[in-house]
Amino acid sequence: KDVNGATTSNLNISIVGAGLVGSLAAIHLGKRGHKIKLYEYREDIRTAELVIGRSINLALSARGRKALAEVGLEDKLLEHGIPMYARMIHNLDESHKIIPYDNKSSQAIYSVGRKYLNEILLNAAEKYPNIELKINRKLSGGQVSNGEMIFTDTFTKEEEKVSSDLIVGCDGAFSSVRREMLKKPGFNYSQTYIEHGYLELCIPPAKDGGFKMPENYLHIWPRGKFMMIALPNQDRTWTVTLFMPFENFDAIKSSSDLLSFFNIYFADSIPLIGEERLIKDFFKTPAQHLVAIKCRPYHISSKVLLIGDAGHAVVPFYGQGMNAGFEDCSILTELFTQYDSNLEKILQEFSDQRWEDAHAISDLAMYNYVEMRDLVNKRSYLMRKAFDDFLFWLMPNFWVPLYNSVSFSHMPYKKCVDNRAWQDKMLSKVFKFVGFLVLCGAGVGIYSFTRRLNINTEIIEWIEKLKFN
Ligand code: FAD
Repeated sequence: KDVNGATTSNLNISIVGAGLVGSLAAIHLGKRGHKIKLYEYREDIRTAELVIGRSINLALSARGRKALAEVGLEDKLLEHGIPMYARMIHNLDESHKIIPYDNKSSQAIYSVGRKYLNEILLNAAEKYPNIELKINRKLSGGQVSNGEMIFTDTFTKEEEKVSSDLIVGCDGAFSSVRREMLKKPGFNYSQTYIEHGYLELCIPPAKDGGFKMPENYLHIWPRGKFMMIALPNQDRTWTVTLFMPFENFDAIKSSSDLLSFFNIYFADSIPLIGEERLIKDFFKTPAQHLVAIKCRPYHISSKVLLIGDAGHAVVPFYGQGMNAGFEDCSILTELFTQYDSNLEKILQEFSDQRWEDAHAISDLAMYNYVEMRDLVNKRSYLMRKAFDDFLFWLMPNFWVPLYNSVSFSHMPYKKCVDNRAWQDKMLSKVFKFVGFLVLCGAGVGIYSFTRRLNINTEIIEWIEKLKFN
């Protein structure tokens, strides 16, 4: 029996990758009583001095929170997270504009540290006697479709052969598990690199130890073709991320190029970051690539399943990559309950249920880059947002704006997209109808005006006639 009292057969499950999704998946499945081996290529993130990973902090929202709550970890994360209730737009003229995420109930997304989150998850996983953490083990071969893997110890180079009832590939966007699956007929896969890269900078704390900018906001410097954003950290620093076409990064070759570029586009950020630090951080590492991965299905037979970035890496502009990966864990748990650990059914159902949603959030994330870097400055966007917010306030169960459905609900991603398409259709019908009414009104007005004119001319003609008679 698992902790929920449900009957389960104890499966040997190997999870590849102890990043955010792998660690949470281990807890979700370990909680059910299965025997879990969690393999991680890198050193233990809890003792590593420098975390070699993408993005220092992440935005945690409803889907991620739900998956954490299911294993009793949500509160711990929220205590640490910094709520961001709105976007704060930094205009070119250094004025600011605030765009709340949720006017109605002040919902927030939470800025959480990647390292902290991973540490909490690994500590929680290690508390289960049936979860074994195997650090410094790299998946280096084997036949995953048969449940066979070979791991190489990154220090001793010793190899270990492992046989499992189920392999869960959580080894990220460049997954080795997926590489093996690519060889199987029927496995569809696409990978798209966008032409924009990203680079991380840092705003240090103020002299008094506080934040240098108001902390409960996601700060955005939208500049049309590119943008910069900043998320707050617990230590009062800000992680600043510059997203830009690679050709723009390449054009900045010297400190003076960099300073003149920042003086034109992000002048208010220079005193916040500090000139010296800006130059040092900018030239420290090259801009990183951003990739989107789509697969279908996510499994092979009853032996191997991909979740998290390994199955569906998305560009980071909706802040949903990790949240979607965490949601995978919730779905997997539901399916284990529904099909009582029948792996064939669970894996098939996972693939059937998930692909449309994963593809939808991938497309939405691409769209949101345009919204963040450009549309937020457009009057049409702000009018539509005000309209959406008003209707949401009036009919919260009927009219849920796209951002709210993605970030503050558990509505399947595909449904969020369909819902938005339906709202667009409704609005265009309403506008057409209003336009028609306006035209009718104008027609009636013109008609009665000309009629009155005719009557007037008739009266004048009649008086003229009287005069001559
Ligand atoms: P990863 O985090 O990549 O972890 C994979 C793990 O597998 C790693 O620990 C790796 O060492 C291990 N591994 C790899 N190969 C092997 C192997 N052969 N053998 C053993 N282990 C292996 N998401 C959000 O929800 N909100 C955000 O605000 C957000 N911001 C982001 C900002 C940026 C700039 C980027 C790039 C991404 C952002 N994301 C965000 C996405 C988020 O980072 C990912 O979706 C998330 O990290 C995926 O977790 P994962 O565990 O699937 O993969």
